[in-house]
Amino acid sequence: MYSPAATRYNSPEFYRRCGCSGIRLPLISLGLWHNFGGKDSYDNARAIACRAFDHGITHFDLANNYGPPDGSAEETFGRILREDLGKSRDELIISTKAGYLMWPGPYGEWGSRKYLLASLDQSLRRMGLDYVDIFYSHRPDPDTPLEETMGAVAHAVHVGKALYAGISNYPPAETVRAAKLLRDMGAPCLIHQPHYNMFDRWVEPQLLDTLAQEGIGCIVFSPLAKGLLTDRYFKGVPADSRASRDPRFLRPADITDAVLAKTKKLHDLAQSRGQTLAQMALAWVLRHRAVTSALIGASKVSQVDDCVGAARNLKFSDAELGQIEKILAE
Ligand code: NDP
Repeated sequence: MYSPAATRYNSPEFYRRCGCSGIRLPLISLGLWHNFGGKDSYDNARAIACRAFDHGITHFDLANNYGPPDGSAEETFGRILREDLGKSRDELIISTKAGYLMWPGPYGEWGSRKYLLASLDQSLRRMGLDYVDIFYSHRPDPDTPLEETMGAVAHAVHVGKALYAGISNYPPAETVRAAKLLRDMGAPCLIHQPHYNMFDRWVEPQLLDTLAQEGIGCIVFSPLAKGLLTDRYFKGVPADSRASRDPRFLRPADITDAVLAKTKKLHDLAQSRGQTLAQMALAWVLRHRAVTSALIGASKVSQVDDCVGAARNLKFSDAELGQIEKILAE
């Protein structure tokens, strides 16, 4: 029987307010995109989720299509809730999303009301939940009126199937429009989920300022560049790594000598700060106050332990930031 660590809320500074809402999120949140699917070890998935909660990670992020197969991460998490974490439901922020291909035919992806609301019902069934805390439109749909997509998300909030509305992968202009629609519909946008890490900085020129102005929180996904911003690939491609096990989004060919040359220099800098490379990469995204939480993935309990340690040192000197810029520009 799992019983949560009594120490899990010992660090109040581990939580940051999400935009101008009443919700505070942990600096590190856990995503279930990989390693929680039907083909993965249930015992390992359970151990990762429970360890995360022991560290005070209250936020677990899912989507309809996480697996593989699609939907199976929600089923795995449903079992973890049923057997272990569910008794702490009121301590958890659970999110899911709809937007990418989930079932065949014209109503199985993108941003129609038909798809979003059917998908949310399916997600709730898979997880055995009455409601999720955050329901996201997973990506903007160029062919569906934004009014319809945001109307569906707001409806989910109004009928109590979601407590808060979220958007993911929306560029700044669409974010402003979506925020206004959701506000006018009485379901203000709690949070935006964009990708952000040292190798992919598209949020910096505008989106972070937009979110701060709109009072919307920001949870950044793939802050470790799917594992590249760690020591994972320093000695080749391990058989149990993402690039080896599930190379759909991170191929061994992406791990080039040029990438490794940069990450090894970043690793040396991290060591001089008393951090692992993963910890420094997480601290680096969290240096922006507009970033509420860094949304990590993990294949091992030890990775969760390591990542949580990032919170011990979030400060960078100007010289360190300059060194990072120099390494990234090389
Ligand atoms: P990360 O960039 O955090 O990559 C996670 C991977 O990095 C792990 O699977 C592991 O790789 C490796 N890793 C993690 N911690 C360590 C460590 N301390 N030391 C060494 N290696 C480590 O994030 P993800 O790409 O997994 O994405 C995180 C979450 O973001 C997803 O689960 C999902 O919830 C969300 N997401 C949202 C998207 C959207 O469109 N909204 C799209 C993609 C993700 P390995 O498995 O090789 O051990």
